Amino acid sequence: MNALLTEAERERILAKAALFEPPAAVGADGRRDLVGLTRPELAALMTELGEKPFRAGQLWHWIYHRGETRFERMTSLGKPLAAKLEAGFTVGRPEASDQVSLDGTRKFLFRFRDGQQAETVYIPDREQDRGAVCLSSQVGCTLSCRFCHTGTQRLARNLGVAEIVGQFMGVRDAYGEWPSPQGETPRLLSTIVLMGMGEPLYNYENVAAAMRIVMDNEGIALSRRRITLSTSGVVPMMERAGAELGVNLAVSLHAVTDELRDELVPLNRKYPIAMLMDACRRYPGASNARRITFEYVMLKGVNDSEAEARALVRLLQGIPAKVNLIPFNPWPGSAFEPSSGNAVHRFARIVMEAGYSAPIRTPRGQDILAACGQLKTLSERRQK
Ligand code: SAH
Ligand code: SF4
Repeated sequence: MNALLTEAERERILAKAALFEPPAAVGADGRRDLVGLTRPELAALMTELGEKPFRAGQLWHWIYHRGETRFERMTSLGKPLAAKLEAGFTVGRPEASDQVSLDGTRKFLFRFRDGQQAETVYIPDREQDRGAVCLSSQVGCTLSCRFCHTGTQRLARNLGVAEIVGQFMGVRDAYGEWPSPQGETPRLLSTIVLMGMGEPLYNYENVAAAMRIVMDNEGIALSRRRITLSTSGVVPMMERAGAELGVNLAVSLHAVTDELRDELVPLNRKYPIAMLMDACRRYPGASNARRITFEYVMLKGVNDSEAEARALVRLLQGIPAKVNLIPFNPWPGSAFEPSSGNAVHRFARIVMEAGYSAPIRTPRGQDILAACGQLKTLSERRQK
């Protein structure tokens, strides 16, 4: 495969590649995946390989702007560098399979090197020719919110940077959504929501590195305004995420008293509502133009009364907020029922009359268990 290199040179490059990375990024053939390296890491790697720093920029362009996975097609690199890279490296994608819902929502199951799996959902916007990609940050979740299917799956592990970015790139591959050489830009995959499996602020370093990669202007170049991170309320990490990444914040509130929230979102026992609201008031970059979204899953007879809607309005005072009402999506064995349409509308009206936008989220992809809180990977289901 590498006529240009001797066996000894190949060995030497592999040794350097191995030095560079955690084992998870190295394939069975010993080659290291370049996806997930930050820009400075890629530049350092080029220096290691005796290449000029501008090569890192070229590679970055091919990997993240053009979506190219084969070094031989990265024409600007030249054959000798392409051969060197081929010997020690890959531009990988997680293995994907997918299911399409009747409403066009598409759920991807990604399988990573160690066999762990995570789900990613593409949600097309019906009106416009675009859509959002819902990324997972962990395999499973430690937090066990009572209404969430993912929460019934034990945390297997955090996802790595390449695995987080790889979900997005894999979905782009599936839609052929990379800019063409003629400069046509992708439109379908224009938004990222970190609302899949896992708690993104419990895997902050990897999530942050992945978001920096997708925001880099010479690559995928998504604006931070097109990225929303959803947290169940990991208070100590919220300010840092806002200051460092500047992405939109969504907070999974779901209850207006500590008594109920302790039950529904057990993390509340550690970071109760007052503390959470305080962290929201301090969230860097929130303003009337960039409001914090409060997610509220509507559970019949549990949190959907008019009194609770009024209490919610009081809680939000002084926070640039909008409310997202999520009809509960049932899953096999779940203990709750969705609120009635009437209850949801009454709740929404009270919030709206107080001056907050309060859209009711349309469930998408329920037939394939792709809606909010329904994600859970097969690997775990099979083990049971
Ligand atoms: N762990 C993060 C992000 C993933 S969950 C968080 O909790 O915010 C994304 C959203 O889906 C959260 O608001 C979560 O509370 C909500 N959700 C979980 N299970 C749900 C279900 N069964 N029906 C509707 N929404 C659900
Ligand atoms: Fe984890 Fe979010 Fe599900 Fe809670 S709602 S169990 S934090 S994924």
